[in-house]
Order: sequence, then C-alpha cells, then structure tokens
Amino acid sequence: MENSVGMDCGVFSAIDFKRKPIFPYVYWGMRAQNHRGHQSHGFLSFDGRFHTHHSLDLIPKIKKNDIQQWLDHLPGYIAIGNVRYTTSGKLDEKALIRGTQPVLVKKGKLKLAISFNGNVVNTVQQKKELCKAFPDFSYECDAELICRKLAVELVEKRDLQSAVKSCMNEIEGAISVTGITPDGNLFAFKDIHGLRPLCGGCDHDRNVRAFSSETVGLDINDFVRDFEIRPGELVMATKDGFEHDQLVAARKKAFCAFEFAYFARPDSKLNGKHVYEVREEFGRNLGNEYPDIVKDADLILSLPETSDDAAFGLQDGTELRWERCTRRHRYVTERAFILLSRERYSTINRKINIIDHKLEGKNLIVVDDSIVRGDTTKVVVEKMRRLGAKKVHLLITFPRILGPCFYGVDMATYGELIGSTREPEEIAQAIGADTVNYQSLDGFVKATGMKKDELCFGCVTGQYPTPMAQRLANWMRRRFESGHKETGRIYEVNVENIT
Ligand code: SF4
Repeated sequence: MENSVGMDCGVFSAIDFKRKPIFPYVYWGMRAQNHRGHQSHGFLSFDGRFHTHHSLDLIPKIKKNDIQQWLDHLPGYIAIGNVRYTTSGKLDEKALIRGTQPVLVKKGKLKLAISFNGNVVNTVQQKKELCKAFPDFSYECDAELICRKLAVELVEKRDLQSAVKSCMNEIEGAISVTGITPDGNLFAFKDIHGLRPLCGGCDHDRNVRAFSSETVGLDINDFVRDFEIRPGELVMATKDGFEHDQLVAARKKAFCAFEFAYFARPDSKLNGKHVYEVREEFGRNLGNEYPDIVKDADLILSLPETSDDAAFGLQDGTELRWERCTRRHRYVTERAFILLSRERYSTINRKINIIDHKLEGKNLIVVDDSIVRGDTTKVVVEKMRRLGAKKVHLLITFPRILGPCFYGVDMATYGELIGSTREPEEIAQAIGADTVNYQSLDGFVKATGMKKDELCFGCVTGQYPTPMAQRLANWMRRRFESGHKETGRIYEVNVENIT
C-alpha cells in the first residue's frame, strides 16, 4: 500500500486476422491494467495508416453514445495501448503529454510504433548514438529511444529480427515491448533478463491474438492465456499462431520480485501462479517466521488492497482474526506521490478509512507489502495510535529495500529509502511502530515458486542483474555514504566517468 512508490507502465496489443475493428479489445486490455500507470494513457491503431490517441490520467469510461466516435478515431484491425507512470524523461505536464505512449517514429518512408514497459539504464550512451541518425532527437521517454533505435536498425538491416537483436544486445535495462511493423505485423519482445512481465494469448476462435503485460488483460477479453514471453525472445502474431524466435540466448533470468509483492494485480498469473495465492503464502510465512509477534497480537489488520491477501494468509495460519477495519475509498484514485509531502497526511485520510472502535486497547499486527520511504506508513501508524491501538507491529511481505531500482520502479536514490541505512528496529522507531518485521528472502522466493537466481532482488541485496546498474549502484552508494547530495534518476545524467 506504500503509495509513494510509482510503477512503470502497462501494455496491451491485439490483431484480428478477420480484420474486424480491434480497438474494444485493446481498450479493455488497458482498463484491466490501469494500476500499472495512472499518469497518462494512449492508443494507436493501424488500418494501413497509423491513428493515435494520447491523454493524461486514467483511461476514461466510454459512454454508449461515444463508442462510434472512438471507433472512427481509432480504426483498424491492429492496435496497441499503454498506461504510463513516468520513470524516465521530464515530469512537467507538457513533458508528460509528450512522453505519453504508444510512440510512433518515422525514419524516411518507414513508420514504426511501439508500446513499452520498463526502463533503460544506459540512456545517455543510447541518446548520443541516436542523435547521429536523428539530429532533432529531443529525448522525451525511453519508449521513444527504443522505437528510434529499432527504426534505425530496421532501415539499416531491413529485418525486424536483426533490429530487435541489436536492441536486446545494446540497450541495458528492463524492456518489454509490443509494436506494429511498417507493414502491419504485430510483435512483442523482452530484454535478455526478462525483468518485466509480458504474455500472449488469443480468443477462443483463434482469430484474435494479443500481448499483455499481465494476464488480467487477456482475462477481461475472455482470451485463452497461452505463454509468457521468454527473456531474449521475439514473438510475432501470425494467422497460424505465434512464432517464437529466441534471438539472444537468455542470460541470467531476473524477473522483478516486487511484481509479486506490489505491482501485479492479485488475479494476474506470474510464473504460472496466481499472485493472490503467492501473497497468501507470504502471510503464512510471516506467521511462521514471527511466532512471538503473533502471540503478542490481538488482531490482524492490512493496508488495502495489496496487503489483503497476505493478511488472509496470516489469519489462515494462526488463531488470529483478520479484522477488515481498514477500508479504501474506492473512487479516490490519486496516488500519494503526485502530492507535496505536506499533503500526504490528508491524502491517506482520503484514501483509507480506519474504523476506530475495533482498535481501542488492542495489540495490532498490520500487514503491508513494503516500506519504501516510510512516510505513508508513518502516517498510518500515527493514525492507528490516535484511534487507541496499544501496540502496532508491522509485518512486511517484501524484504527490506535498501537500494534504488534502475528498472522502472520509482526508487531512484539511497537517501529517499528509509531502509537504506536503518535496521528494522531503527525503522520502527522512525515511523512510530513497536516492531517492524520483514519476510525473509528465502521465504519470499519459495512462495513465488521461482528459483532465487531467476528473480531480481537488486533493491534488496544490492546485487543488480545488469552491469551498468551495478556500477551505478556501487558509485551512488559510495557517494551517499560520504555525504554527497544525490541526484534522482542517475541513469539520465552523464555517467560515463563513473568507476
Ligand atoms: S531492483 Fe527491485 S524493484 Fe527494481 S526490478 Fe529489481 S526487484 Fe524489482
């Protein structure tokens, strides 16, 4: 529930081989994934020509009378969509509009469109290279960078496979892309570590094929879930099925572990497991790992909604009751990070209502998915104490975050992270809780069903799966520890001399 951490993006794309209007599928595929990005959204369709729609904020509801207008505006049998929370580029409103995806790039006669989820680490080097081919290139977002890179390579090498392979080999970072080729083919690919999710599926008649960040994008369209794209793999949607092409041998797989704890919708499937079941297991693990806390507590509370399943799991494995007295105001959708820090307190009130009489004189276990900056958690703990809670023990499903993320999560510096220098006891003191207790890394891994070396835990262990991220992290840590002021998003400044 730590709402001060933003997530990167969500993508959905589809093609109808019967050439029927595709927009409704893409619209619903994106509506199902609006949790992955609230700042802007966009659609791009193809009927021989490209058509675009870009806007800020959440994807709107479409009224019955407006449907035809949308279909006229976005005609065609192929379309891609995107929801975005920016972790690259500038942050003012104009820049947000310019950075809205999908992006369409022209290079000579060639036109190429993509929708992207992730974050580029070697931005500066790539920008420099691209300026040779596009002298007017004013970088707005990583999606534009990737699309331009693909376009340059396509012009030079003339086939998509080679262009994508160059991207995979030369661009470091989390890259989950779906796009439309100049001749109207739908494709998708992932970086060589497979950091972010991207899956494929089709309708029951196998006329429509689709790609989606999360499986919920397929479910909402009643599509058959088919596969998760492998790291280093390019997949083409064709009339006869999906064509898989392993372009670059997958190096160490490194799927973002934070997707399981926080980002992904509970009803999505990651690695073949429903996220809510994994989170329930997190809750059972926490009960087993902290029996003394369980013994000391009267009630379990959760911070809705990403912690609810873990709270259910904890209740399942103990004698304690999960009291659902923290309720989310369903239609308040602003996230804490878009507000000034002095406004955060009232935002929590607007977002969550805590039913007071249940807390009076009680020792509480409060389950949360993560502690990033700690400001949100601090406000919640303060509020629970004001409402009469005797003790507040925090049980946190994601292990302690002590370093930044370079792969699309809005955690850019050491200084902003409450766990970067503090032990759990010190964190408890800083946020006013009696205890702070994190799930063990091994317990977390076991619950996911994945192997430890298939997951990225860079922000937890300081071991990042890609070389430049590791170099940046080491350099930033040294500077932070010697008292230098940190700049956010270090990967966007000139870092060539970093050793
Ligand atoms: S560093 Fe953390 S948040 Fe970023 S991709 Fe790795 S596990 Fe996910």
